[in-house]
Amino acid sequence: MTIRTEEELAGMRRVGKLVAQTLDAMAAAVAPGVTTAALDAVARELATAQGARSAPQLTYDFPGFTCISVNDEIVHGIPGPRVLRSGDLVTLDVTLELDGYMADSARTVAVGTPPKGAAQLLRTAREALDAGVAAARPGRRVRDVGAAIDRCVRSHGGRVFRELAGHGIGRALHEEPSVPNWDDPEADMVLHEGLVLAVEPMLAARVARVVEDDDGWTYRTHNGALAVHQEHTIVVRAAGAEILTLD
Ligand code: MG
Repeated sequence: MTIRTEEELAGMRRVGKLVAQTLDAMAAAVAPGVTTAALDAVARELATAQGARSAPQLTYDFPGFTCISVNDEIVHGIPGPRVLRSGDLVTLDVTLELDGYMADSARTVAVGTPPKGAAQLLRTAREALDAGVAAARPGRRVRDVGAAIDRCVRSHGGRVFRELAGHGIGRALHEEPSVPNWDDPEADMVLHEGLVLAVEPMLAARVARVVEDDDGWTYRTHNGALAVHQEHTIVVRAAGAEILTLD
């Protein structure tokens, strides 16, 4: 969506803040021995108490309230009986609808002690998200956001998944434009003031293809490579993007 009124801005800020608070609560509950279903319940209880709904459930009939992806799972993992262990990487991905507005944010966190190389990979993902957000300025193109993300990830030796992209968001979960994580020549839309985007680098430490799991939802790496994901919903502004999914 493109924010044109104070009311729309207030609505997007409210849902963005609730997404951030929900992610904070989930991240605080991450520990060895906890199931992904228990993390999903933390999110559901907090968000529904504020009147919010799960955007993936509303939009796609997704089986969980949130998406939770572990290790080589990249995105769209289904919460369930899986028990987290020290050394796992868990991606928490929350998209909420509140009063007709939607915001989307994700972060990957280590359970207990991160596996070898994972701390650098997590830093790279956070840096890549910052680089992408910084590139989102009116007058620049969507592909400039992807180019900034890809440049950052490659400078640390990682690789983005070209098959997976960010997206417009606001009134629906997935709106135009698609926001690739690389310098895709087809992503030539010019960014304008007020445009709301979910910017979301998804990457691995080495080259990997994306494969869909038998469950029909989960995307994982074809070779077992660990995947990480960082995402914010932002508003494009002349003075620099405003991040909506912060507490
Ligand atoms: Mg997203």
